[in-house]
Amino acid sequence: MKAEIIGVGTELLLGQIANTNAQYLSEQLAEIGVNVYFHTVVGDNPKRLTDAIQQAETRADLLIFTGGLGPTKDDLTKEILAGHLNCGLDTDEDAWKKIKDYFKKTGRKMTANNEKQAHVIKGAKVLPNDQGMAPGMFLKKGTHFYMLLPGPPHEMKPMFRNYGRQAVMDQLEKVDRIESRVLRFFQIGEAEIAEKLSDIIDTQTNPTVAPLAGDGEVTIRLTARSNSKETAAALLDEVEKKIQKRVGEYFYGYEDTSLMAELLKELESRQLTIAAAESLTGGLFQSEMTSVVGVSTMLLGGIVCYSNDAKIKLCKVKPETLEHEGAVSEQCALELAENVRKELGADIGISFTGAAGPDSLEGHPAGTVWIGMSFKDGESKAVLVKLAGTRNGNRRRSVKMGCYYLLK
Ligand code: ATP
Ligand code: MG
Repeated sequence: MKAEIIGVGTELLLGQIANTNAQYLSEQLAEIGVNVYFHTVVGDNPKRLTDAIQQAETRADLLIFTGGLGPTKDDLTKEILAGHLNCGLDTDEDAWKKIKDYFKKTGRKMTANNEKQAHVIKGAKVLPNDQGMAPGMFLKKGTHFYMLLPGPPHEMKPMFRNYGRQAVMDQLEKVDRIESRVLRFFQIGEAEIAEKLSDIIDTQTNPTVAPLAGDGEVTIRLTARSNSKETAAALLDEVEKKIQKRVGEYFYGYEDTSLMAELLKELESRQLTIAAAESLTGGLFQSEMTSVVGVSTMLLGGIVCYSNDAKIKLCKVKPETLEHEGAVSEQCALELAENVRKELGADIGISFTGAAGPDSLEGHPAGTVWIGMSFKDGESKAVLVKLAGTRNGNRRRSVKMGCYYLLK
């Protein structure tokens, strides 16, 4: 199925707002295996909107409109589409009741054009608007499908996620079932993974194999089509096996997990506690960890020891260590990790010390980071990481690396 997304609104053409709706919908449609070949933007103008519809019909099976469902005169998407398709408009009773209730409750005066908001194209499936007044619509006419969604992203997104997406999938499932799976990799670049899997990426059509890189990670989305869920799953298994055989050592999880989430799963299942001493990350490791619900049984706490003084006073790093080896050193990372672990009685201690950048520190180039790890029942170790990002990029990457090395 080919789709075209049509953003309706003069404010989009004037550059007053960015077309984020198209970006969101494209991402959602890619997930269910619908190809988006065109994004169109057209102003609130009947003639040009009709032209845009006609052109989209020549190159797409599914036309998704956003915007122009509101009560004002310039909101004309459904009226124009209804005219184009030779369909009339009906009042959707649920939406109309919701509008009347709203005005009753707030004591505001209703104007005649408010009923217009409850109008829907005859024969369309109504997509409820849980965040606002104007309902969305989905309909089939001839060989085309049409979906109308409101302009405000906070109304459009839940409407698509909760109702629109399923409406499209129901149509796809008449032909094919779509199953997708996301594989997540760390410590391997996009170019390297693409090279190692180039034949698979180039020749696979079912499932399709699509890599995507960002923030030091690579994800691969597999999308399979079949007439049964079982066959689709088997197709995914088969390709995943091939991929894992080649780059499995970099794999860390499925779907929307993260290195931090995987680390917490591991700590939880092994009933281990952790404490952190953070210099260049300034508490970022602990901040990210505490953003996950239920972390209190695992994270005991930690110390932000940015200055050498803090390293000595709060984390009991030996002054000689800082004097002879420096803060950006294996020894300093080891002492930080071990001391914070002992001080808080944790099973694991982790530390981050290094040069975040942009300047070098103690003669070490920006991006030189030592990550220390101390284990109650095991040996301590520290790893040297060399990063090449911006200051904050290096700090974020250090946290990910810390999770990665603990998971290893
Ligand atoms: P309303 O009932 O609020 O009038 P509507 O469905 O008629 O909604 P529009 O009037 O076209 O939608 O747009 C309302 C607001 O929604 C815009 O001012 C803008 O903030 C946002 N919006 C519209 N289209 C887009 C888009 N393509 N991407 C992001 N935001 C958008
Ligand atoms: Mg409007």
